[in-house]
Amino acid sequence: MVASIKPNRDEVGLTDGLMLIDGKRIAALAGQTWSHSHPATGEEVASFPVAGAQDVDLAVRAARRAFDAGPWPQARARERIRVLRKIADLIREHGDELLKLQALDNSVPLSFGSVYATSSAFVADVFDHHAGWVDKLAGETLPPYQGGDHMVFTLREPVGVVGAVIPWNAPLLLFAQKVAPALAAGCTIVLKPSEYATFAVLRLAALIEEAGLPAGALNIVTGPGDPTGDALINHPMVDKLSFTGSRAVGRRIVAASADRFKRVSLELGGKSPALVFADADVSTAAAITMGTVTLGLSGQVCLAQTRALVHREVHDEFLAMAEMISGMVSYGNPFDPAVTSSPLINTRQMDRVLGLIAEGQAAGARLVCGGSRSEGDLAAGNFVAPTLFTDVSNDMSIAREEIFGPVLSVIPFTDEDEAIRIANDTEYGLAATVWTNDIKRAFRMTKAIRAGTVGINGYQLEPHAAFGGYGQSGLGREGGRGAIESYTEVKTVLLPFTDEMM
Ligand code: NDP
Repeated sequence: MVASIKPNRDEVGLTDGLMLIDGKRIAALAGQTWSHSHPATGEEVASFPVAGAQDVDLAVRAARRAFDAGPWPQARARERIRVLRKIADLIREHGDELLKLQALDNSVPLSFGSVYATSSAFVADVFDHHAGWVDKLAGETLPPYQGGDHMVFTLREPVGVVGAVIPWNAPLLLFAQKVAPALAAGCTIVLKPSEYATFAVLRLAALIEEAGLPAGALNIVTGPGDPTGDALINHPMVDKLSFTGSRAVGRRIVAASADRFKRVSLELGGKSPALVFADADVSTAAAITMGTVTLGLSGQVCLAQTRALVHREVHDEFLAMAEMISGMVSYGNPFDPAVTSSPLINTRQMDRVLGLIAEGQAAGARLVCGGSRSEGDLAAGNFVAPTLFTDVSNDMSIAREEIFGPVLSVIPFTDEDEAIRIANDTEYGLAATVWTNDIKRAFRMTKAIRAGTVGINGYQLEPHAAFGGYGQSGLGREGGRGAIESYTEVKTVLLPFTDEMM
């Protein structure tokens, strides 16, 4: 039986679930609240305000004032760097507390916090990385095109008020990937977390206040997509929308941007391939591929390599190891150090995953293990057993849809050309991994695969490297120069040389 997740407030640092608007902690004007049910037990953990259009309006106006009147957009580079580095320090100091709050949100086990990409250290590093950009965010000086009597140069200025919407699966990391570059560029922000992952975000916002960010520069509105998210993305005073989540909501974001041509960044997930060649370390490839799909977030991760394209010669070896890894998944209370993976976030997501598994079976894929909801002690939670399919054909829905659950589809291939064709036969293009000990093949594959990131014999997130997708995996990149520049506008300045200047 999964132990109660009812929080001991002091132990997990849980404070009231109030929103942050203009430096004040407030409830929704209409007094509406949302009760959060923990995905491992179904028990109610705490409640949060549901922001309506009026609350969102207050938050956006606060961000607008903080942008137009300052002081954050006008702050000297030294001051912005100081605040961003202080935020990183506070995240490191409160790292365990933040991970516990995240476990109350989405049940991602604390044991997973030792993996760098899901640790609070990574979240802190995202702020440190962007602090480093503040004094390097530069325009350029251009040679005069039509003669030598004037100077042409460009400035990078903050884009304005950012409306950010993030999902439940990695709230701390996704918060950082939007808030850190926006603040580094001098923008002000209104952020809506998922209604399924609010605790950790509210605490992180409190740490940012403590670091000295001026009131109104970061505002948090809580509540569901409708009405809260909808009011935010359609607000006329928002200059840029930054979103991570489903393609369906991504399309709404693009539609909401059209009226005023708001700037848009989207990270919309993937159906990423792992290409395993016969010359690879097949056991490691199988362990890591199955691990990223089933351990930690239970496949609720955009970059999970959910299609294993495996050379026919090593197919059985791959399958045996992947099945063994599925046996290492242990579900339960996320605070238990022996627990290695999580339930699905809600019953809707669980039903969706089970529905896709049923479609795979009906289409003729061979189920090797898993395939059903976990029963017994786990019956009250949204747990789905780690699931492995083989003999999958790339036109089946389990090979095309982003399942967002612990499901790996193995697709056998015969040669490089076939592997490339299958890898690129997807509407997405977020990530891929190539498993081979032939360096020339590794580079051939890297060039041929259409994806935002390609790992060779492994895959990891890096806070300073561009992350984002081709095709329907999104628009723009997070991390690196491209991310911070996407929170700026370029202004060209033309300066004629007058006699006095010569
Ligand atoms: P959504 O895209 O619905 O949720 C992401 C965020 O968008 C949440 O904060 C959500 O709010 C918000 N949102 C929902 N509707 C609106 C709206 N009309 N206007 C503004 N914001 C809105 O993802 P789902 O939770 O429905 O998950 C469905 C599928 O999406 C998954 O199975 C997966 O395939 C994909 N997904 C991909 C992610 C990624 O990392 N790329 C992350 C999450 C999902 P709230 O949750 O509070 O309703």
